[in-house]
Parts: sequence; C-alpha cells; structure tokens
Amino acid sequence: MHLKALLCLLVACYESAASLNTENATQKDFPPLLLISFDGFRADYLKKYSFPNLQKFFSAGVLIDHLTNVFVTKTFPNHYSLATGLYAESHGILASHMFDPVTKKKFSLEDDTDPFWWNEATPIWVSVQKWGYKSAAAMWPGTDVMIQNHTSTNFMKYDSKVSFRERLGNITTWMTEDNSVKFAALYWEEPDHTGHIFGPENTTEMTRALKEVDDDVGFMMEHLNNSGLWGKINVIITSDHGMVQCSKDRLIKLDQCISRSSYTLVDLTPVAALVPINDATDLYKNLSNCHPHMKAYLKDAVPDKLHYRNNERIQPIILVADEGWTIVQNGSLPRLGDHGYDNSLSSMHPFLAANGPAFRKGYRMETINSVDLYPLMCHLLGIPEMPNNGSFSHIRCTLVSEKCTDLAVVVGIVIGVFIVLTTLTFLFRLMKNRDPSSSRPFARLELQEDDDDDDPLLE
Ligand SMILES: [Zn+2]
Repeated sequence: MHLKALLCLLVACYESAASLNTENATQKDFPPLLLISFDGFRADYLKKYSFPNLQKFFSAGVLIDHLTNVFVTKTFPNHYSLATGLYAESHGILASHMFDPVTKKKFSLEDDTDPFWWNEATPIWVSVQKWGYKSAAAMWPGTDVMIQNHTSTNFMKYDSKVSFRERLGNITTWMTEDNSVKFAALYWEEPDHTGHIFGPENTTEMTRALKEVDDDVGFMMEHLNNSGLWGKINVIITSDHGMVQCSKDRLIKLDQCISRSSYTLVDLTPVAALVPINDATDLYKNLSNCHPHMKAYLKDAVPDKLHYRNNERIQPIILVADEGWTIVQNGSLPRLGDHGYDNSLSSMHPFLAANGPAFRKGYRMETINSVDLYPLMCHLLGIPEMPNNGSFSHIRCTLVSEKCTDLAVVVGIVIGVFIVLTTLTFLFRLMKNRDPSSSRPFARLELQEDDDDDDPLLE
C-alpha cells in the first residue's frame, strides 16, 4: 500500500514537472529548423550497414530507432504526414495515384500540383508563413504547390537530376541570407531509388547507395559548419518508409480472379484501389477469395488501425498484399524492392535522428509514431499546432528543455529502495527475536541498569 502511494506521488510529480517544463520552453528563442528526408531509408539499414557520418550526427544528438509511419507506406502520403501530423485519411494525400469521385479529377506523381489534393491540411511550411516567418524547400513533396494560396516562400521545382549538394546549397543560401527563414525541408531520392531497382537484399548495391547517403550526411554537416549554421540550427534527418524484397515468385494476378471489364483500376500495388463498374459485392466476393497473400476490404471494413477509411478519395474496394508480395493485373514483376504495405511491418519503418541546440546529446529512443514529429516541430518553432494525430508527449524527452527523468528508472529505484528497506526490517526483527534479552520490556531493562540491586523482580 505504501509502495502504491509512493508511486502515485512520483508519477504526479513527474507529470507536473513535465507540464512546467513545457510552459518554460515556449518562452525561449526558436532557432531555425532543417528537416531532411532520405527517401526509403529502412530503419534496420542502420544496424546492417556502416554510417560513420550519420553515427557522428546522432551520437551528439538523438536517435529514434524506428518510426511507425502511416498507411499506405508510400512516399507522398508519408511526407505529407510528417509535415502535418495527420493520417492519410485526414490530410487527403492517400496514395501515389488517386481519383476523386466527385470532381472526376486524377492525381499522379507526375501530375501533383493541383491544390485541390493538398488543401485538406495545413503543412508546417504554410503555418510558419502564416505566423510571419519564411520557409525554404528543396523538392519536399507539396512545397511547390499553392496550398491555401501559399507555396513555400523559397522552393525548387521538382527535378530528379539536381544533386543533393545543389539542393542543400540552395537551402543554406536561403537560410543564411534571410534570418526570417525559420523552417527548411530537403528531399533526396536515395536510398529509395536503389532499393526499388535492386531490392534491399542486394547488399552490394545497397552498400554503394547507403555509402553515398552517408557521404551526403557528412557533406551536410561540413557545409552547415562552413555556412556558420552548424550548432545554431536544429537538424532532423528522417525518412518516409522502408523497403522490402519482392520476387517474381510472389505475384498476385488479378486477371485470374476478376474481369478487367468489371472495375476501374485507380492504384495497383502493394495496395490496390478499385472502383467497381457495377455491383461492389460480387467483385469483392471474387477478390476476397483470390489469393491467400492478399486481403480484400470493402471501404467501410478497412481496419481501424490503418486509419484509411474516412475520405471520399478512398475507393470502394481496397486490396492489401502481404509483405513482399506484388499485385499485378497479369504482368511480370515491376520492381525488386517495394513499399506501401501495412504500416505495422518493421520493414516499412524509417528512423529519425536529430542534432542541434534543442536536442539532448547521446539520447536514444526505441520508437515513436511519425505523426508525432509535427507537434515536435511546432514546439521547436514556437508556433501553435493545427489539429493533428500526433502527440508531443511521445517525443518531448528528446529535448534538453524538457528535463524529463525516465519514469521506468524512477519506478525501478523506488522498487529497489522498497525491497532493501523491507529486507532490512525483516532481518532486524529476526535478530531481535533470536536475542533472549530482547524479550524483556525496554522499561524493565532500564530499571535493571538504574536500580539493579534494589529490584527483587529481576533476581
Ligand atoms: Zn518514398
């Protein structure tokens, strides 16, 4: 009972200290923030390959081993989730290919600049501008789109031929020439590109691609240092999703189950989106028994955990392939590596590392949700959060200002102290019981010492 009371007291102190620290943090200065995404950087690459520069970056900062990202685990939905803190069903960028049933508009990675698709959410670069600051972006998805009548203040039109170093050069120029640039975002296509072509199990190619990524991290640190920004700005390196090996032996062929004349295909693999031409129930019945490694859902029955139901752009039938399986209509394997699968799969998870004045040094966490990054970034920039699915409390211990003690350690110490005290009490009582003199009342003992000869009862 005493232990329980003590624990409650400690938890209460812990929570009140946390809220106090949060209030204090809002009164501080807010250094600029640079957010970098290396597309398709699967979390466990960090364990399997060598990253001397990245290691240097997070050894003096923060490393979060893996992020549970959002479904579908594709590039555009996840980059928009990082920037808004919302699940795909709430921000509206639901897949690489979309169809809007009301306007009949279509979205693809090659045709993505219609604000219609992006306006359901407010990305952080738009919020930054609404609060009187400026932003800079190098090809981060959406930053060149007029979202709520704003592109990023500075931005680059997407061009895959522009090198990482040139993108970084533009970002640092914008940041150093104008100190009202408070938020910058940089997107880079590797290691996603190599992962798709060769598959993540091709260690020769992945070693080469990941060494280039690590070299770019090294260049970034050196370049920020030469620009006078290193140590003065906060830098976060993360990614949108992981990557898994596919195989020609793991193909799911829709033509073997349904007729092409019975549906319109909006998106294909590993999450397919179908619009039935006639009756959805019949089509669904055929698809639900189509392949043991593919799950079929009517839109209303998509599991809650995927947060992929409440949006008009989610099509009436959704098919989800198991890890490493590829859905085709009747073709051959399109690529050796892919992503997009269930976001609970660790192969789909990216990592996060951070370094800068706001972050602890040498701090490590196992996991957060990728939507938790948005409230952290708002906190770092001192701007209010828009409604979102993330939680600052999940990630706040990465910050120097938060002074949070690991609750598990505190509980461990309390339990340890309790065990020691209980053991000592027990031993003391045991020794006392074994000592025959201790059976005498203390008062009588005193009596014995003070007035031994005169007391007949002690004889
Ligand atoms: Zn991607």
